[in-house]
Amino acid sequence: MIICKTAELLHQSIISLKKNDNATVGFVPTMGALHQGHISLIEASIQKTDIIVCSIFVNPTQFNDVKDFEKYPITIEQDIYLLEQAGCNILFLPNLEEIYPEGLNKLKHYDLGYLEEILEGKYRKGHFQGVCNVVERLLNIVKPTILFLGQKDYQQCMVIKKLIEIMNWQNKLSIKIIPTKRELRGLAMSSRNKRLNETEKENATAIYKSLEYIKNNFYYKPLTQLKDAKNILNKSGFDKIDYISICRVDNLLEVEKIGKKNKHIVLIAAFLGEVRLIDNILID
Ligand code: AMP
Repeated sequence: MIICKTAELLHQSIISLKKNDNATVGFVPTMGALHQGHISLIEASIQKTDIIVCSIFVNPTQFNDVKDFEKYPITIEQDIYLLEQAGCNILFLPNLEEIYPEGLNKLKHYDLGYLEEILEGKYRKGHFQGVCNVVERLLNIVKPTILFLGQKDYQQCMVIKKLIEIMNWQNKLSIKIIPTKRELRGLAMSSRNKRLNETEKENATAIYKSLEYIKNNFYYKPLTQLKDAKNILNKSGFDKIDYISICRVDNLLEVEKIGKKNKHIVLIAAFLGEVRLIDNILID
């Protein structure tokens, strides 16, 4: 695997690996502390594209909580090992100046509409502006054919789709959303899980249990009773629940009544101590 720290080197590396002009480039942007969830995106790229590029960059502009940024796990040696084992071709490892040469005070603003007012947008002010800033910069550097994203960050996938429209790249780039990889007990793999001890990890499985409870009772209980899933979270030590939302899958708007016509997604964000975890499950 080639490791590039600059956009210039990255371009040269992609050119050197391209066997012809039609060779396709798959891109998996990450913030590192890699796990099998990230690796499943690399594997999907191996299936679909000729060249696989992964980036690791802990993007400061998407953290609304300084402590969360400072405590974000960094495991670069292990990440390189996992990527090499998986068959990734290029790791892009830029520093702050490479991504934000003009500094952090000249960020672009994107009109994301209601998408940044709801769910993660509501509880993490400015988060999606930071995501769009970094993703636009990374896309302009890597210029991939397919962008691989995880369903675990479902709202982020929708925001990035919107960004691609804003960039007018719909015809240049396609997005592939990969299902969430879970630990044996259902806990969604996440870099933030590295901040949990074994007991906390066991307790954290309550998020998946809550999602399953809602999924299994979806057509049999009224909405208010489905929201009783919060008791499962409370019993396992989740002391702050940002949201348990039942939304339409196509627009992420919360439903007031469950109808069989639309497809739904249930999304949860909650704190186990200082660690904020998110997860979701598709119904239908
Ligand atoms: P992150 O490093 O958390 O920014 O994630 C990088 C990419 O990996 C994003 O597209 C995430 O949605 C995706 N991802 C994170 N966790 C998982 C998981 N458990 N399964 C599949 N994809 C994931």
